[in-house]
Amino acid sequence: MSPVTRIAIIGGGPAGYEAATVAAELGADVTLIETDGVGGACVLYDCVPSKTLIATSERVTAFRSAPSLGVCSNHAAEVNVNLRVVNERVLALAASQSTDIHERLVKAGVTVIAGRARFSPQQSGRTFLLDVVGNGKQPDDQHAVPADVVLLATGGTPRVLPGAEPDGERILSWRDLYTLQDVPEHLIVVGSGVTGAEFASAYSEMGVPVTLVSSRAKVLPGEDPDAADVIEKVFTEHGGSLMKHARAAAVIRSADGAGVEVTLTDGRMVTGSHVLMCVGSVPNTAALGLEHVGLAPDEHGFLTVDRVSRTAIPGVYAAGDCTGVLLLASVAAMQGRVAMWHALGEAVQPLRLKTVAANVFTHPEIATVGIGHEAVTSGAVPARTVTLPLARNARAKMQGLADGYVKLYCRSATGVVIGGSVVAPQASELILQITTAVQLGLTVNELAATFAVYPSLSGSITEAARQLTQHDDLD
Ligand SMILES: Cc1cc2nc3c(=O)[nH]c(=O)nc-3n(C[C@H](O)[C@H](O)[C@H](O)COP(=O)(O)OP(=O)(O)OC[C@H]3O[C@@H](n4cnc5c(N)ncnc54)[C@H](O)[C@@H]3O)c2cc1C
Repeated sequence: MSPVTRIAIIGGGPAGYEAATVAAELGADVTLIETDGVGGACVLYDCVPSKTLIATSERVTAFRSAPSLGVCSNHAAEVNVNLRVVNERVLALAASQSTDIHERLVKAGVTVIAGRARFSPQQSGRTFLLDVVGNGKQPDDQHAVPADVVLLATGGTPRVLPGAEPDGERILSWRDLYTLQDVPEHLIVVGSGVTGAEFASAYSEMGVPVTLVSSRAKVLPGEDPDAADVIEKVFTEHGGSLMKHARAAAVIRSADGAGVEVTLTDGRMVTGSHVLMCVGSVPNTAALGLEHVGLAPDEHGFLTVDRVSRTAIPGVYAAGDCTGVLLLASVAAMQGRVAMWHALGEAVQPLRLKTVAANVFTHPEIATVGIGHEAVTSGAVPARTVTLPLARNARAKMQGLADGYVKLYCRSATGVVIGGSVVAPQASELILQITTAVQLGLTVNELAATFAVYPSLSGSITEAARQLTQHDDLD
């Protein structure tokens, strides 16, 4: 009988906890070390809290638009958000999600240590040694954890712009938002990437005057420009204002302390009551004692991995945001699982980024999968495409939805579906159908022959496939 493999996982976010679950199921002896709480930054500070907040902002929009569908109340014109209640709900939900995951891990047989881990300066042959300093929540605060395999899943931290350091009161990182007791009088959001766009959209839906400071010509660089156009239109319709080609140089509290002043690199200044800094994140790889096992991060601090999550050091794997592969919880989780399948000798399919579905939780949402606008318009990938505006979909009309579309890409010669995007409320749910087609290599003919419910938004996906099929017939 082969000896049980000892696996140590540093970091309890999606990469770490999914890996721990898989490894425990496969019979390994698994120890997971997490400093803040199981679920990691994803559950406690980033993804879960932000999407819970957005659930509130969606309700506000539904409430506001209700009169256009004939729903009236005496107070229909007045919608107020009690941010203290919202944030209490957000934090309670995150804590309970963390507890759920913790309990699941313990039940699966994983040893969970609350503490901070790093490679020990004393390494011992083929066994890795980790030093763990507890966070005071457990009686024995120092641990030495030996392991045959180590998974680094340490995630990232909000990037701080020098001269714009968060103070937790008015100059905020996205992790400070949930301490706010009242809605800001005027929120400035610096950074129009996914995080900035999501918070700008959510707060403006909640009736807060928002100024979004974007260093680019369009918000959401990297997304389809058609989608960015829709988001900009809806954001401004909600009363948000957009500053383009605007890069923040410094952020300070105003002289009376009751507001903030954002100075741009071109000398312009924006004032507001609060500023939210969304200028990316940095990987948590600086204090892991990597040098003791001969591992070095790249120039941006990321750990380079291959498609089965191996680093350059045999037996040391890395997964999730600390690798910089794609900063998504779903990708982190898959990298973590793949690492364990590989380490424990299971059959494993290397990570395929072309099949990753991603969503921007703005209003409306933007969901994408596979080959996208940039690859097709640059000519890098020959493809045929069709775009169907939501405004023509019967169900969308019934629901009073005007903004958004379904876009599908297929290979020019074969009609195999290689990508698509959906801009709609609940696009995150609708994209699965295109993702399935991309994952299974379905053709537009096969997708077109699939029944969609009538009337439904997903009917636009099969209709798009039908239109590409008709093109096929003409080829
Ligand atoms: C505002 C926001 C919203 C997001 N929304 C989404 C979304 O809707 N969908 C999506 O897919 N992704 C979303 N993401 C991205 C997602 O949160 C990350 O991709 C995901 O958290 C990565 O998981 P991870 O396991 O790599 O790391 P994390 O979730 O960051 O967890 C890593 C953990 O490791 C711990 N750690 C670090 N160093 C040590 C150490 N030395 N010892 C012990 N523990 C350590 C950290 O404390 C942390 O808890 C969002 C990100 C942000 C910022």
